[in-house]
Amino acid sequence: MDIPTANRAWDWTPPQVQPWILGALFLFSMGAFFLSIWPKIRVMRLAVPENRWDHPLQRIQNTLKIAFGQSKLFKDSKPGLMHAMFFWGFLILLLRAAQFFAIGFFPRVEIQFPGSQSLFDFYGLARDAVIFLVVLAAKYGLYRRLVLKPKNLTLSFDGILILVLILFIMLTDVLFEAAWFSRNPDQLSLWSPLGALFSWALMDHLSPAALIATHNAAYWGHVSFILFFITLLPNSKHFHIVASIPNVYFSNPQRTGSGLRRIDFEEEGKESFGVNNILDLSWKSLLDLHTCTECGRCDSVCPALNSGKPLSPKKLTTDLRDYLNAATPRLLETSGPAPGEGPALLGGVIDDETLWACTSCGACEEACPVMIDYVDKIIAMRQGLVMTESRMPKELEQAFKSLEVNSNPWGFGKNTRADWADGLDIKLWDKENPTEYLYFVGCNGSFDHRGKKISTQVTKLLKEAGVDFSILGMEEGCTGDPARRAGNEYLFDLLASTNAETFKAQRIKKVVTHCPHCFNSLKNEYPEFGANLEVIHHSELLAKLIQEGKLKREEKSESTTVYHDSCYLGRHNQEYEAPRDVLSAGVDETARREVENSRENGTCCGAGGGRFLMEENTGTRMSHNRVDELMATQPDTIAVSCPFCVLMIEDALKAKNLHDKVKVKDISEILE
Ligand code: SF4
Ligand code: SF4
Repeated sequence: MDIPTANRAWDWTPPQVQPWILGALFLFSMGAFFLSIWPKIRVMRLAVPENRWDHPLQRIQNTLKIAFGQSKLFKDSKPGLMHAMFFWGFLILLLRAAQFFAIGFFPRVEIQFPGSQSLFDFYGLARDAVIFLVVLAAKYGLYRRLVLKPKNLTLSFDGILILVLILFIMLTDVLFEAAWFSRNPDQLSLWSPLGALFSWALMDHLSPAALIATHNAAYWGHVSFILFFITLLPNSKHFHIVASIPNVYFSNPQRTGSGLRRIDFEEEGKESFGVNNILDLSWKSLLDLHTCTECGRCDSVCPALNSGKPLSPKKLTTDLRDYLNAATPRLLETSGPAPGEGPALLGGVIDDETLWACTSCGACEEACPVMIDYVDKIIAMRQGLVMTESRMPKELEQAFKSLEVNSNPWGFGKNTRADWADGLDIKLWDKENPTEYLYFVGCNGSFDHRGKKISTQVTKLLKEAGVDFSILGMEEGCTGDPARRAGNEYLFDLLASTNAETFKAQRIKKVVTHCPHCFNSLKNEYPEFGANLEVIHHSELLAKLIQEGKLKREEKSESTTVYHDSCYLGRHNQEYEAPRDVLSAGVDETARREVENSRENGTCCGAGGGRFLMEENTGTRMSHNRVDELMATQPDTIAVSCPFCVLMIEDALKAKNLHDKVKVKDISEILE
């Protein structure tokens, strides 16, 4: 049987030879691909185990939305559209690639079944549309890299090489189709418009022999470019093409709270805690490193980098990845870390200052299109610094001591914790006669001059609405959040265990708190300590009370008010509506403003991650940058729902001499 022209990949050789040549190329490229990724997989197996197999439905949903739907990419419209074109285009063109290989391996086979022609026609049209869009996207990608050169994007040679390869793959596909039509004008079909268009040009200019040569060259060019592309992937940043779908699938499915886990300090033989070498990271963290696309979206939103601190989340990832790749042969040889070889991870590959600059705000994670985790990695490396290497800023040493002795980071006497409530007629928790809610005040609300005003206002509103609540008084202790975020997991464990014991002994079930850091810790981290509480942030409770008609405000303020989202209420716990609902009860709609970076894109005030305990001497202050953003809305009032944001923003306003013009209010004070 003769070979159909469309299936001829090489006219000048016997048909039996064609599959062997293609098979050899295919095996070589697949062999190179697997030889490159196998060491990466083996190293991941040596890393810390982590269960990422739970919540399969949620994971599938996230994968469909984020990986296949490319939802995060569209936040940055033009490059987002470009990447989406590549991704969706490649999905559609996978079939075309399969057809090319089928032609080479089975040249005598023609696929035909009832209705197959209509299906092929329709696919031909879709394919040409996709090729057209992918070519546009690749040209835009080249223009971006060679002309626009965005500041946060890594402008590497392999980025350009991959775009050129994509262009060649598209062009050889069209050329193959065009040459086939030129050799068989009776087969010319407008269902393949690109092939048809170019075939007219080829017929006019090429001899029959040249057409055959073009047809054959286009075929072998196309399959060779695809195979070269595959071999390049594991050895370039474009490995994300392989790693991003699994990385999204195995990412934190709920995106709330944190992935930090309690450490077993009693574990026999354990001498170091936290991350001290690369294999102390979990396998998922190593997969993160291989997935980074170097797009720089994380850098563009990082408040630390944007205020001149030595922390670029992208560089942190690529430095760790390059170190991991360089160390892989050594790690595999010794089946684990080989001490003394290569630079130290902490203080060598990653500077201490880089780690201390992070506010754990999570903006980088929100921006990352492939769901790379930062906060947990940075905190785990801080744990290595604090608990294993005893290296930390001196302000933290003092704060840790105070937390240990007085259960607050500033050294106020433990026995003065409830002094703020003197004369306010607030009940103390009585387990024999419990109230509905425990109001967990937190260190800021108990000791800070400004924080105490917020606690007082919260209790006034709760009383006004008839909420049955009490406080723990001197039995309350710091949740441990600042210790945990600053890497002192041992101290966090101590504080959390003590509080959890109190909650259990006092039979406490429902907790309201106005501090998002306490809220996050009690809600998401205390269950590991046996405290399964129903935790509600005061914004949520106030919004509920307003909705139930228990807190009424006849008159609304007309003072222009903008709301600043707290990272730990917003990004870390996805609560954006409740504080806005409270605001709408107290401020006239015409006076409410939204800052450009709000909700999940809100910019951090600079207090989180234990940063409020540390000096900020490098670059500009993060709070100053945030105030500049907020001032663009020309507010009279900045509303917040976190006592630490209140402090940071008030200080920034003072430094900018704006404090007489603009007031900062907790949302409870908005209802004052
Ligand atoms: S968590 Fe915030 S401060 Fe830390 S690296 Fe990410 S964006 Fe920067
Ligand atoms: S970590 Fe994510 S956002 Fe940052 S450069 Fe890598 S892929 Fe882009």
